[in-house]
Amino acid sequence: MTTPKLIIHGGASTLEDKGGLIQVRESLHIVIKEVYDLLESGKSAVDAVLLGCELLENDPRFNAGTGSVLQSDGQVRMSASLMDGDRQRFSGVINVSRIKNPIHITKFLQEQDDRTFSDVGAAELTRELEIPLYDPIIDFRVEEWILERKNNFERKTARLYARASEDRRGTIGVVALDRSGRIAAGTSTGGKGLERIGRVSDSATVAGNYANKYAGVSCTGIGEDIVEEALATRIVIRVTDGLSLPEAMERSMKESLENNRDLGAISLDASGAIAWGKTAEILLAAYHNGEAIGDTLEWTTDELMGHII
Ligand code: ASP
Repeated sequence: MTTPKLIIHGGASTLEDKGGLIQVRESLHIVIKEVYDLLESGKSAVDAVLLGCELLENDPRFNAGTGSVLQSDGQVRMSASLMDGDRQRFSGVINVSRIKNPIHITKFLQEQDDRTFSDVGAAELTRELEIPLYDPIIDFRVEEWILERKNNFERKTARLYARASEDRRGTIGVVALDRSGRIAAGTSTGGKGLERIGRVSDSATVAGNYANKYAGVSCTGIGEDIVEEALATRIVIRVTDGLSLPEAMERSMKESLENNRDLGAISLDASGAIAWGKTAEILLAAYHNGEAIGDTLEWTTDELMGHII
């Protein structure tokens, strides 16, 4: 029997200020506890990832599901993916709107011949599956968008780190190792915010979310940077080819830094090692190593990565 392991994230970004970290910690730790309990009860890594993503999508604090950032036209379009490392199977939705939990569709898609759907196809699918209509827009994001509009959309992305009282954070991701030693990864996002219509995020690609029998990774940060580094796949393949997870993370983060990337990643491997990395100023991640819960919220040094066995 393997000791279950779990790591989740709520985005990576610049540290505009530390306000709200207490609430973010509370949110992340509640999810870690609930999902870890599920893993301990013997449920699969896929089930754990689905529950973790659902809980984080439902928390308006994060930029996924309810509370997603608005795109340049003031609409929410969400992307999510699920990778079952045991079967090495990927499913995803890209730019889906007006539903509560994009991650739910990825579960259905795992068993289909066609496994990743974008806007029109995804909308058709939500109708076919009779998923109820839902408005994920919250007031804070509308106010944020109006403010950016007044400034003629000078910012390249939505504000993930807002003022102390407005503790909205980023994209979410979950990577789990279950009792049977199986790994799964899931990622869900509202995108960068303020992007042009039709822009495709990394979150529902293998650059942003990837797993096999050896390791699993979920990424966050600027999607274009993540895609150009092929980050999640790169880390997983390095482990597959024999590097330890901390080595794979460190090497990939060094390369990302050299290329001036703005990103972060969480990961674990089949041996039970957990690792996280960032070139962004801060990464909001929390983990359970079988003994205790820890998090990366106070990690603001220049170190590129951290790990725990
Ligand atoms: N990676 C997401 C995107 O570019 C955004 C994020 O992780 O904050 O769509």
